[in-house]
Amino acid sequence: MTPLRKNIAGMSGYVPGFQPENEAEWIKLNTNENPYPPSPQVVKAITEEVGEDGASLRKYPDAGSRDVRKIAADLYGVEPDWVIMANGSDELLNNLIRAFVAEGEELAYVHPSYSYYSTLAEIQGANICTFGLDDDFRLVGFPERYKGKLFFLTSPNAPFGVRFTNDYIRELAGRCAGVLVVDEAYADFSDGSAMELVGQCENVIVTRTFSKSYALAGMRLGLAIARPEVVAALDKIRDHYHLDRLALVAAKAALGDQDWLADTLAKVCKTREWFSGELRRSGYRVIPSQANFVFATPPDLDGERVYNALFERKILVRYFSDPLLKHGLRISIGTREEMEQTLEALIEIG
Ligand SMILES: *Cc1c(COP(=O)(O)O)cnc(C)c1O
Repeated sequence: MTPLRKNIAGMSGYVPGFQPENEAEWIKLNTNENPYPPSPQVVKAITEEVGEDGASLRKYPDAGSRDVRKIAADLYGVEPDWVIMANGSDELLNNLIRAFVAEGEELAYVHPSYSYYSTLAEIQGANICTFGLDDDFRLVGFPERYKGKLFFLTSPNAPFGVRFTNDYIRELAGRCAGVLVVDEAYADFSDGSAMELVGQCENVIVTRTFSKSYALAGMRLGLAIARPEVVAALDKIRDHYHLDRLALVAAKAALGDQDWLADTLAKVCKTREWFSGELRRSGYRVIPSQANFVFATPPDLDGERVYNALFERKILVRYFSDPLLKHGLRISIGTREEMEQTLEALIEIG
């Protein structure tokens, strides 16, 4: 018998969103990628870093991501020692668990939200507690004093796209004995952020990703804003060369081109509002979203039927068999053209 740790042997592992083989033939709206290419500054920076002969790749990257932390700190109005970069925000979620939750201790998150939290907790051998959401998107049964070591709050929530107010997050932070990690993967698409709470509350940490708003899912970049002692702890835990040279220059260029970001966000949000409105007019229930996806429910509450019908038409969206979600679909916001085709297909499917 292979002497694996019991929890590793017993876990099933994360299942990523379906990645079709001939991607160009599909309208891919299942993993909340950005439909637009990243800033041209990013492409330029990567090309320059590789150069004619790739000589820079001989050398290890800057282990401390110092330039990028400085740029991110300026952007978010904090000191550089309040910033840590990451190989995708998934790396941060993992390392936050390793930093705060020992084997056998408890962490919590909202269900439904990001299912990768449970995979990471299982690897660590942490106990999991989940809290549901009521019709007003407030947590059900969250105790006056939550004693777990870490609580992940996805805001805006996935897959519903609803953002929690800072007043509510502040209240939750006050009720957490451990840390409150606000996973802001979609915050750039929303009308606010919990970033200011990091300075105001001792136990709030905010994570961001470059995968969605910056259109860099393929580069694997994320960051967190946290107190310096948390950043220092995360620096001890991570792989020392976790970001390669191309990722580092890409991150710098991406953060440096806020005009591109503003333009792209405006386009995605405009398409989201248009698509949501049209879908409602054709009889769907669509939760008002502050992210780059919508959760849409067909009149017959059969998400799987619509998923399959879209799949036949080479349109890929996300269906969850979870009893809380199976009545609807999560649909990423693509280009206006892609959403026009998707809408047409949905109306045809009925
Ligand atoms: C996409 C996503 C992430 C992962 O981001 P990466 O930077 O690509 O690892 C984290 N949290 C939520 C809620 C997400 O949707």
